[in-house]
Amino acid sequence: LHEGLRCIGCGATMQIDDPEKAGYLPMAALKKSIDSEALFCRRCFRLRHYNEIQPVELTDADFANLLHQISDTRALIVYVIDAFDVTGSEISGLPRFVGQDNPILVVANKVDLLPRLLNKNRLKNWLQAELKTQGIKPIDIFLTSAKHPQNLDDLLDTIDHFREGRDVYVVGVTNVGKSTLINQIIKAGTGVQDLITTSRFPGTTLDRIEIPLADGKKLIDTPGIIKRDQMAHILTDKDLKFALPKNEIKPRTYQLNPEQTIFIGGLARFDFELGQRIAVTAYFENNLNLHRTKLSGADDFYDRHAGELLAPSPYGTKTDLIKHEFSITEDSDIVFAGLGWISIPAGVKVAGWAPKGVSVLIRKAMI
Ligand code: GDP
Repeated sequence: LHEGLRCIGCGATMQIDDPEKAGYLPMAALKKSIDSEALFCRRCFRLRHYNEIQPVELTDADFANLLHQISDTRALIVYVIDAFDVTGSEISGLPRFVGQDNPILVVANKVDLLPRLLNKNRLKNWLQAELKTQGIKPIDIFLTSAKHPQNLDDLLDTIDHFREGRDVYVVGVTNVGKSTLINQIIKAGTGVQDLITTSRFPGTTLDRIEIPLADGKKLIDTPGIIKRDQMAHILTDKDLKFALPKNEIKPRTYQLNPEQTIFIGGLARFDFELGQRIAVTAYFENNLNLHRTKLSGADDFYDRHAGELLAPSPYGTKTDLIKHEFSITEDSDIVFAGLGWISIPAGVKVAGWAPKGVSVLIRKAMI
């Protein structure tokens, strides 16, 4: 019917079928916009009127394409990560994608979730070492909380300092809080609505949002990469909301004897297999029930209680948890991807269990 119509905000071809994809507008609104000659897709409409940025789903190929275009330009890369889920924030091959010569400023978001007493310099050093394992050497690491941005001016100054007259590309995987941060940046500007222009990469159907900077350069928001190995994909929306931290995490410490198990709701499990009595500290959403039991009866316990005492559980039912074993040689965290972690002293053997598709990893202790 209206084939070939394009949104004047982002250039996407208008469509009425899929609200998750670029160029969507419901039929009734489309008719009205054609009459008034202001043809904006719903995403751009919301962006212009409510300063709300809507995510658009892209394929991996689209994404690789987009990042490659950055490697052809000279720009500052602002790489947004989630301080609570650092491994889950990783864009593998980022330096290669965005150009080896383009400096990367890491913005570690959601620091409000970490214990307030955490030493900020220690955290930065720890992040530096973590990022190094991903092949990333940032020019700086900036800690922030897009939800309560007390240091937004500092962030803008830092970006301005490091961009040295270049464009700025903001990149990140979905859910790290990139849109929240961009919205704060837009709000911080004056004459908000007029500041926003949307356009797209020539030759592709990708949206990008450009925020003009004082010197005629731009800050460009790129769509988030969707990660597939996240808890988010095995939990219902309601359970996910419950299981992910919303406020500052209160660490929970346990004195454990060997052959004891801690269940993390019905989602994951930690076994202390071998070693002297130790203290471990768990970092998970405060309302998530942690249940200690004997290792010998743990399988049976899970079978009987998953979905009730041990809740939430994947897909709301029992699932097989998969075991990952670790020998701890330095103070480490066992990380349950996206859910949280347990810190453990050196010199013991432990196991972490999680549903299929959710990784369990070891890293140097963060705190
Ligand atoms: P995007 O996919 O990277 O654009 O992420 P969003 O901006 O949509 O944020 C994903 C989720 O994280 C939302 O539920 C946000 O409310 C939340 N979020 C974003 N920034 C912060 C933050 O600084 N602290 C906390 N606690 N949550 C945040």
